[in-house]
Parts: sequence; C-alpha cells; structure tokens
Amino acid sequence: MEFMNPEEERKLIVEYNTRFPMKVELHVHLDGSVRPETVLDIAKERDMLSSLPHKTVEELNRDVILVEPSSLDRLLQSFSYFMPIISGYKNAVSRIAYELCEDCAKHRIRYMEVRYCPQLFANSDVTNEYVGEPGTFTPRDVVVTVNEALARGMKDYDVTVKTILCCMTHKPDWAPEVLSLCKEFRDKGVVGIDLAGLEFQPGTPAEECALKKVFQEAAACGIHRTVHAGEIGTARAVREAIDEMKAERIGHGYHAYDDPEVYKKVINEHIHLETCPISSILTKACDSDVTKHPLRKSVKRLKSYIFNAARCCFSDVEERKSLVRQLKEVYGPKYDYQSIHPHK
Ligand SMILES: [Zn+2]
Repeated sequence: MEFMNPEEERKLIVEYNTRFPMKVELHVHLDGSVRPETVLDIAKERDMLSSLPHKTVEELNRDVILVEPSSLDRLLQSFSYFMPIISGYKNAVSRIAYELCEDCAKHRIRYMEVRYCPQLFANSDVTNEYVGEPGTFTPRDVVVTVNEALARGMKDYDVTVKTILCCMTHKPDWAPEVLSLCKEFRDKGVVGIDLAGLEFQPGTPAEECALKKVFQEAAACGIHRTVHAGEIGTARAVREAIDEMKAERIGHGYHAYDDPEVYKKVINEHIHLETCPISSILTKACDSDVTKHPLRKSVKRLKSYIFNAARCCFSDVEERKSLVRQLKEVYGPKYDYQSIHPHK
C-alpha cells in the first residue's frame, strides 16, 4: 500500500461524504487525531524541533501512519513519536481539540465522542512517560482546556463533540482520578469512561483488580462505560468487560465472535461493538482476507450502522432521539430497523 496524495484523499472524502452525508462517530482518540502539520508547528513554537527526528509532514507520516498490517504494539508505538511535543502544553491540547471539530465537519460527522486519557496530556504527574520536565498542568486542567476548545470548535463548525475519559491498562493507579474527573464534568461534556492502551488481561477477580473496581463504581454512579477488549485479546476479555466492568460498549470486540456464548451475550445485552475494519487489519487483530472478517457476520446495511451508533451514543435520551430523527431526514426511515435504546 502507498500513502494517498492530498488530491486522492480529497476525492475520497467527497465520494464518502456523498454516500454518507451525515455520520455518527463513537470511537476516536484525541491523541490519534493530531494533524502532522500541528505537531511540527508546536515543535517550532516550543523550540523542540531538534528533539523531533522528523522535519517534514512526509517524514512524520512515514513513521506514524501504518500502511501495512503490523501489530497493536506497533500502532501504539506511533504515539511516542509526537506525544512528547504535545503533552504538558496547554496551547497544543487546546489546538488539537479545536482542530478536531473542523475535521469532524469536513467528514460530515454530526456527532462525535472523542476519548483521551487526561494524565497523558498533563505534566504535573511525573509518571507520564511523555513528559521530560514536570510542570503544573494537571489532568483536571487538561479536561478544562479540552472542554473550552471543543466548545469554541462546536460553535464555529456546527458539530457536537462529547468526550470519554480513558483509564490506561498500564496505569491502574490513574483510574480513580479519571473516574473523579468523569463525575465532576459529567454535565460539562464528559459522557463516559473507557479502558484503553494494551488490552487488559482477563482472569483477575474483580475484588483484586483496581480497574474493575473503578468501572463498577462508575456503573453505580451512572457514568457510561466502554472498554477496549477482544481486539487482539480473547472472547473471555469481552465477557469480563461486560460482566465485571459493566461495559455498555466494547472497543473493537472482534474476538467476541470466537465464542458463541460471548457473542450471544453481546447480542442479548445490546452491547454495541465500536469496530473499525481498517484498524482491525492494520493491527492484525483480524485476517486481512476480508472474506473471512468476523464483521461479515453482522454487517447488514452500512447506513444502519450509523443509526445504531446514534442509538448507542452516551449522550442523553433526548439527544439520541434528535440524532436518529436527523438521520431519518437524511437517509429515510428504512435503515432504522432497530427500535431499542440500550442505555438508560
Ligand atoms: Zn481505541
């Protein structure tokens, strides 16, 4: 595979927007959405260009963007190239959140839930691996900064962008603060909690697992839950995410299809799978032969996926109904074949 040139990319966006003029996007990582041009600008602004091995957008893209099937490890490694430039710097956090709204409008995404781990953008916590010099920019400051930038972006680009705060599997000690930020900002744009990073390993009893306890408390407090599970990991991880972490949505979840009992649970409990066929191939979570892809079992009509996403977003019932109404106006009613609202 090759990189698309800007003209090819523009044509593809036009074609895609013509087929799908209104979209709902539930699984986007803020740190995975940074424009390469912005990384270079910020590096200049912070006088950090010498610490960045890439001097042009092309050089940066070559290391950061995967074009051949590789692994989840390799994909996660991409963040280490540019996050030290962004992390701990308020202007950068504000800019990437604002620019995301513009990109959202460009792709005709009417509603988006973007997720991030506040600690990974802060510099007050010296255990953040992206930060060299500790500073005073706290995880709470990060959330305030993102919210403020999104509010400006939503107004300027007429899109709705809510946020999900991520716990990280390799930093279970950060999770209680993530939950407390979810609670504090639940009426100010934060709609849920996630578990991200390398996939968690199933098998630890809930009472001995700090992350599971945090998710159980989130459920008790009415904070919506999504968990990355069953991407490269097993169906058992998906089952534990649902049963022990009270997940309402699963990030990826391809391996839920490996175990008929787990798949039945996903269906019966209306668990929404946030899937991405391209990512699943690039991380080798699934076979690159699309005729064997597990999603073939559930794909009916692509437009109905957009309706399902609207129904399973973590916003309130009124916003979900309004989104479904708007989608019906654009696509007609025939793709809305489900009438359920899985979340209370
Ligand atoms: Zn993800």
